[in-house]
Amino acid sequence: MQAMQTNSVNPELLQGELQGLMRNLIDLVSRQTAQLQVRNEELLAQTRMLREEQLCKICCEYPVARSFNPCGHGTCVKCSSKLHKKPCPFCRTEVDSIIPRF
Ligand SMILES: [Zn+2]
Ligand SMILES: [Zn+2]
Repeated sequence: MQAMQTNSVNPELLQGELQGLMRNLIDLVSRQTAQLQVRNEELLAQTRMLREEQLCKICCEYPVARSFNPCGHGTCVKCSSKLHKKPCPFCRTEVDSIIPRF
């Protein structure tokens, strides 16, 4: 049996080493978690920005799906249907035609 050899290692030394390793590990994990959290918040902010950019500014409910000709402003399908031949709500240019936007 070779198992007896483990007795030759000083258990206190081993424990100290183990504790050091654990500290390093915890330090590493917490640092990476903090980094991930920052990245996660960045992504969330970006997603929010993109969503707000694409959301109809009139009803804030549906995504922008129509553009006005000639001014180029846009709203969702529902709001655009009320604006034909009327002034654009953003710049007051009369909406000549409404074109689909993707
Ligand atoms: Zn709308
Ligand atoms: Zn406009």
